[in-house]
Amino acid sequence: MNRTSDRTLPACANLTAVFQHPLLEGDSAAATPDEHRLERALRTQAQAACSACPLFEQCLENAILNHDVAGFAAGTTPRQRSRIRSRLGVRVRPEDFESYAGVISPGRQVSTQDVVKLRQAHPDQPLSFIAERLGCSLSTVKRHMRQARDTSSAPRHNAPAKAKMTSLAAAYETVTGRPHPRRARLAA
Ligand code: SF4
Repeated sequence: MNRTSDRTLPACANLTAVFQHPLLEGDSAAATPDEHRLERALRTQAQAACSACPLFEQCLENAILNHDVAGFAAGTTPRQRSRIRSRLGVRVRPEDFESYAGVISPGRQVSTQDVVKLRQAHPDQPLSFIAERLGCSLSTVKRHMRQARDTSSAPRHNAPAKAKMTSLAAAYETVTGRPHPRRARLAA
């Protein structure tokens, strides 16, 4: 299995054989019983990895509210994310593939998600490769990697943002039929 072992990275960047498997690219890509079994196993593995991921909340917020990202992300399939957006009355532009391919629009700042996505797509490349693709410094890449690690533990003080996250968590639970990882941890 194609798996890297960088503990500073989210699980999706290490479990590339799961998260980048063609059967997890979209919804219901399986055609045969064997493929259906494999798809279910991959999805179960990816769901478990996302549920334990310290970046889950930031990742879900980004995948629902900011970017129409491809594939399995934040414990959801593309169709589930679309249904969550419908419940929340949210619309996002289709994913800007070129930006994730390393071509950042002029004037657009490099985001943590840009760095995480490129790291996920090129887990065996050094961080300098990501810096080169994004047109930023190596220290910027490292700063975003640190932020990706630390964000989930940062306290949130903003009331509207908290309300938004509560609605997002509720919509996630309704659509996926699974508890939001943070709420599940609190209930445990
Ligand atoms: S929650 Fe997001 S960052 Fe974490 S493993 Fe899942 S897809 Fe990757």
